[in-house]
Amino acid sequence: MVVVATTIEETGTAISDARRRGLSLGLVPTMGALHAGHASLMSRARRETGFVVVSIFVNPTQFGPHEDLSRYPRPFEKDVALCDAESADLVFHPRPELMYPPAFKTYVEVHELQDMLEGASRPGHFRGVATVVLKLFSIIQPEFAYFGQKDAQQVRVIQQMVRDLNVPVKLVVCPTIREADGLALSSRNQYLSVEERKNAVVIFNALSDIRKRVEAGERNVPALIRAAQERIDKVADARLDYLAIVDHDTLQPLQTLTGRALVAIAVFLGRTRLIDNILLEIPS
Ligand code: AMP
Repeated sequence: MVVVATTIEETGTAISDARRRGLSLGLVPTMGALHAGHASLMSRARRETGFVVVSIFVNPTQFGPHEDLSRYPRPFEKDVALCDAESADLVFHPRPELMYPPAFKTYVEVHELQDMLEGASRPGHFRGVATVVLKLFSIIQPEFAYFGQKDAQQVRVIQQMVRDLNVPVKLVVCPTIREADGLALSSRNQYLSVEERKNAVVIFNALSDIRKRVEAGERNVPALIRAAQERIDKVADARLDYLAIVDHDTLQPLQTLTGRALVAIAVFLGRTRLIDNILLEIPS
């Protein structure tokens, strides 16, 4: 049975014990409301490491003032059951006051990478993400940490933080898990009405259409974006927040496709904002 720890002391004891037994540590950071996307990270961690820690923490500092922090789903018992089914060893589930006591003063910023795409739509988001992930790395001290390609910019921000601050952890990036129609699994999908859920497939269809056009030889980024925008405009309830085709490393916008490109999209379905992305490799 997976052990649940809510304090730093309990967590430290479980981790020291695992180390004494010579086990390597894998961390899967999550905000809970776990689904098959999270499970895929856990099962990869289970295969590759001896002691799997799943953190479940809805991190207040990565939410904007008008976002869904208070209504973000928190089905904790169900989440623990899923961690157990995936044979995780420890669930770290701190209270917000433990992570951010009143005297808290230190934040991590990854300049430039934090400002575009999600960072432009959600100011302060990546400052919160980088800060909580570094805290989790310090508390758990994992050799390996597992992240989803679903949050591509998050991966890029954390990679940079790990490199810049010499954090001794190896990042493992896992593919995006999708529903049968292509919609990326997300804890926020449960906000969607039946109608919005049906329409949400436009996100994956717009990305797939871009991939198809690129495979057919299109390299002009504004033309690709225009076609996708038109497709989204036709769908009731759907409103494009951003669609950008950027260099995979710098996240700077491309005019003409070359090298490794990230196609990143955010769409509102009614009040629910969903993100997705694909990677494109253009042979030179
Ligand atoms: P979250 O709970 O949304 O903060 O996500 C926790 C981790 O799960 C992050 O590394 C996400 O990128 C990853 N994740 C979320 N959805 C998916 C998905 N559909 N496929 C793969 N990984 C995912």
